[in-house]
Amino acid sequence: MLDDNYYKMLNEFYEGVYVVDNKRKILFWNKGSERITGYTKEEVTNSFCFNNILNHVDQNGKHLCHDGCPLQETIMTGKVIENRVFLHHKNGHRVPVMVKSMPIYDESKNIIAAIEIFSDTDFQKDAFDESQRLKKLVLLDELTNLPNRRYIEQYLKSKYNEVISFKSQYGLLFFDIDHFKHVNDNYGHQIGDEILKMLGNTLRKNTRSSDFVGRYGGEEFIAVLGVTDESELVYLAEKLRNLVRTSAYSLDNNKALKVTVSIGGTMIDDKLTISENIEKADKNMYIAKENGRDRVKI
Ligand code: GH3
Ligand code: MG
Ligand code: MG
Repeated sequence: MLDDNYYKMLNEFYEGVYVVDNKRKILFWNKGSERITGYTKEEVTNSFCFNNILNHVDQNGKHLCHDGCPLQETIMTGKVIENRVFLHHKNGHRVPVMVKSMPIYDESKNIIAAIEIFSDTDFQKDAFDESQRLKKLVLLDELTNLPNRRYIEQYLKSKYNEVISFKSQYGLLFFDIDHFKHVNDNYGHQIGDEILKMLGNTLRKNTRSSDFVGRYGGEEFIAVLGVTDESELVYLAEKLRNLVRTSAYSLDNNKALKVTVSIGGTMIDDKLTISENIEKADKNMYIAKENGRDRVKI
């Protein structure tokens, strides 16, 4: 139906490409079609495309092979048809594809065949996965897998709008490990890193999923908690402080390594900027340090 050189070229397309004669018998099936549908060219060539192979359906589940097949319409009318359909994959699941069918004419301008090109939206999925990967790279802290400073600031910006538009109440807590330098000096940087992970987990696992916990930098963490008032924020901060001081990292010699945190907090105030709110919590954290560490100052 087509010159062999055409078939050679079409075989290399990333998209699925197949050719049917005007009785819709499949004459050609390229590598892209094999990739997208799971059917090899040996399984498909010389069968009729409406015989339960591809079994196109539209998004309403309507079977298109007998009533609404784009190839059939192309063969009948010569029109180029573009459509979003769902193909049957050999493993049973449905694959969303964009199909485009075009007529093939002989010298006397009779339609003798049609060609269908279909591209799978895995292109989009790959792009989505890639963007998720990049997002992770840019917004998550590698050591603790918690949101990093950039993410914390983005998140606070969104909460800020909520505080203003819905009058929601959020508390901000700033955590700093007490005498963390001693941990590094006495046990090494690697153990220090393990302590940071432990602290990250303690904070993340003991706050609600709707709360937010991130690593602001070094040995400083921030939590944003939905609360009804300041006394609830104090209560939650005390709870976290106690959970941290009773957490223990097991050293090789079976000894337990514990750390404490100083916590400064504030209710997010929409009359202050985001950085001013963070500064306020940070200042309170320093007051907690001055007051003897391992304590909360709101
Ligand atoms: P304070 O109670 O006043 O907060 O004392 P501190 O020793 O915790 O305070 P300081 O700011 O002097 O020290 C913070 C230390 O945190 C210094 C730095 O080496 C350590 N640190 C920062 N980031 C990391 C990290 O990613 N891994 C490890 N292991 N240590 C870190
Ligand atoms: Mg610090
Ligand atoms: Mg510290």
